[in-house]
Amino acid sequence: MTTIPADHRPDYQDVDADLCDELESYLREEGAIGQENAIPTGQIAEDLDVDSTHDTRPKIRDAKNKLLYEQGVPIRGCSNGLFIVKPGSDMEQAIERIRSRIGALNTAKMALEDAVPKYDYPGGEADESPEDDADVLGDCAKCDGPITGDHVARWFGEPLCDACYENAPPTEADFREWLSPPDDE
Ligand SMILES: [Zn+2]
Repeated sequence: MTTIPADHRPDYQDVDADLCDELESYLREEGAIGQENAIPTGQIAEDLDVDSTHDTRPKIRDAKNKLLYEQGVPIRGCSNGLFIVKPGSDMEQAIERIRSRIGALNTAKMALEDAVPKYDYPGGEADESPEDDADVLGDCAKCDGPITGDHVARWFGEPLCDACYENAPPTEADFREWLSPPDDE
């Protein structure tokens, strides 16, 4: 159904398939279509008879993720709860909220990269540059550059460096073509 490889999905617990089906049916029957009709997670947990405690509340969230990442249900959460995203402006708003979160995360990433090497650590010099002693885990399938860090990122099974991983096209056909572009005639 979906082309999102398992190692690109966010972490979530495996959830009961029945709970996923119940959640989707519930949202459809209760008319939670579009952000303005979102239903609070606590109410969903109560109506579906999942105990609404801090321990079990994540079950609903995990079911939501499984529906989106494995079952192609365009479900999304907002501050008012969960809803099924409609095409059109609802979809555009949902994408825009994701985009602004990515922007905020990128800002945090850049600020951290900038601050760490310059920071005055107690006890003296900052540690040596991580690039100097990082383990090389292999070669990138796209650019042949070294892959460093604590794990090898893969997209459709191919090992990629961080930069290429960020730029890899989402679908397998586009990815394969991007990986080995056909020679120009
Ligand atoms: Zn690369």
